[in-house]
Amino acid sequence: MSKDVYVLMEQRDGELAKVGVELIGEATKLAGDLGQQVVAVLLGSGIKDKAEKCIHYGANKVIIVDDPALAEYLTEPYADAVTAVIEKYQPEIFLFGASSIGRDLAPRVSARIHTGLTADCTGLDIDPETKLLRMTRPAFGGNIMATILCKDYRPQMATVRPGVMQALAKDKARTGEIEELKVEFKAPLVKIREVVKNEHKTVDITEAKYLVSGGRGIGSPEFFNELQKLADVLGGEISSSRANVDAGWIDKSRQVGQTGKTVRPDLYMACGISGAIQHVAGMEGSEYIIAINKNDTAPIFDLADIGIVGDVKVIIPKLTEAVAKAKAAKNAE
Ligand SMILES: Cc1cc2nc3c(=O)[nH]c(=O)nc-3n(C[C@H](O)[C@H](O)[C@H](O)COP(=O)(O)OP(=O)(O)OC[C@H]3O[C@@H](n4cnc5c(N)ncnc54)[C@H](O)[C@@H]3O)c2cc1C
Repeated sequence: MSKDVYVLMEQRDGELAKVGVELIGEATKLAGDLGQQVVAVLLGSGIKDKAEKCIHYGANKVIIVDDPALAEYLTEPYADAVTAVIEKYQPEIFLFGASSIGRDLAPRVSARIHTGLTADCTGLDIDPETKLLRMTRPAFGGNIMATILCKDYRPQMATVRPGVMQALAKDKARTGEIEELKVEFKAPLVKIREVVKNEHKTVDITEAKYLVSGGRGIGSPEFFNELQKLADVLGGEISSSRANVDAGWIDKSRQVGQTGKTVRPDLYMACGISGAIQHVAGMEGSEYIIAINKNDTAPIFDLADIGIVGDVKVIIPKLTEAVAKAKAAKNAE
């Protein structure tokens, strides 16, 4: 009999990835609706000290597979470990981050276990009647949202992109069970000869509290310099719609949306962005949204908390000046 909601806790160099912590937050809701528990699965080498952290973020139980075979991420031993966990414990639901690791691992595991997998979910909930996991994701180029069920096989498996779900606040008073599982690893067919770290530093826009985001309406790549000035006075970062990424105006790491990143900053400023469904999918969870657009019927105004109808080229420099003045006045107090 399958039970409990399992989450793969990704770690790199012993540091837990944010997406696993976010998924524990979501798993807590799902497990609550099922009357079941949240189990974090921690894989790696020398990572046992991270188990407590999973509990502090909401896991009721942690299963650790700690083995030198898992020191670096490799598809086969990681798939061996997750498969062993599923075969032994029979989870009802298993969630993975839609990161490069989760996207590689989850399909491999689902094929081995012979169950379904719904990739890149943007919403998860439990059907109150059937108790099945409803896995919602954009389909047909983002034009519709599809809700997918996995009725006949277990676990019900989904990947979720980083930033989509909300982590619970860390509570060091939480307690839970920690269990270690020994796994027999097959000799991998692939060996890592060298790990070459990408030295090119990319900014993680999912971490920014304030995002000043530019769309095609900014008119030129140079105008990102103006958006940067506003981001600097706010203490935030710049981001973009896909239109400007495709035009080569800004790096893809700053793209917000269905095929970019999902962000939930305290403030999202959409500057010259129309509000296409694929863009909105990546920023609608923002705490507060300000939209600047010269077209008063632009769909972005439907979800903005404040809408400013006008030319970004006129408004942004004025806003930057006003925020800088307000900050200077506050500092002088
Ligand atoms: C499968 C698929 C995936 C996609 N993924 C993404 C994604 O991840 N992220 C994403 O962003 N898009 C994505 N798109 C593209 C998306 O459909 C839109 O084409 C894109 O978001 C439009 O970008 P935009 O709002 O910057 O440009 P536009 O839609 O061209 O809008 C520009 C806006 O600027 C306004 N404007 C023009 N000049 C000014 C001015 N001077 N001052 C103020 N306002 C002005 C206009 O009124 C207009 O509303 C995807 C599309 C597909 C099919």
